[in-house]
Amino acid sequence: VNFARERTALAEVMAFLFSKGWAPGTGGNFSIVVGEGSDRRWVMSPSGIEKGSVAPSDLIVLDRELNVLEGTGKPSAEALLHVYIAESFGARSILHVHSVWNTLLSRRFLKDGHLYLEGYEMLKVVGSIKTHETRIAVPIVPNSQDMPSLVETLKAKLGDEPTVPAFLLAGHGLYTWGDSLAEAKRHVEGFEFLFEVEAREQSWGRHAGG
Ligand SMILES: [Zn+2]
Repeated sequence: VNFARERTALAEVMAFLFSKGWAPGTGGNFSIVVGEGSDRRWVMSPSGIEKGSVAPSDLIVLDRELNVLEGTGKPSAEALLHVYIAESFGARSILHVHSVWNTLLSRRFLKDGHLYLEGYEMLKVVGSIKTHETRIAVPIVPNSQDMPSLVETLKAKLGDEPTVPAFLLAGHGLYTWGDSLAEAKRHVEGFEFLFEVEAREQSWGRHAGG
């Protein structure tokens, strides 16, 4: 089996994200990108299996046309988003989670087109930000089951250089990425922390305000 190191590392991170409650059921999908250009490969979680107990050998290897080069599992319908993110932004790892907090906020702020996060120390974790005295905007787009059209929507929304390595699909979940698996994992943890704080603060404020 090829990509043994990547398989082991990705399976570990998937189990961690599952343990945090961010990929319940068989939700979420996860990849490490290897190689460049037409040789690029995605070591990826297969669809329809629980992410907490995936063996390294259960992971599949895809090319950019979503052909399964290794493994017996089927790619997720969302594998196309992993190809888009790697090819557009040079991501080396893409992690997609379905958490309670990202689902709540993505629905609530879809009408604004972005979720704004401001004044949190944790903002330094989710981008090339050196201070908490800043505001970031996480793009939100409507959910869709039509992946090619969702990619077109994302291209129009994010452009070539997104200001944060992330976007939200409304009522669905977070996509984030990084230059390495470790960085992408840090981004999930950072964003999910921020989402929980922001969502709790918003509901707190609503109640306090009567
Ligand atoms: Zn999903």
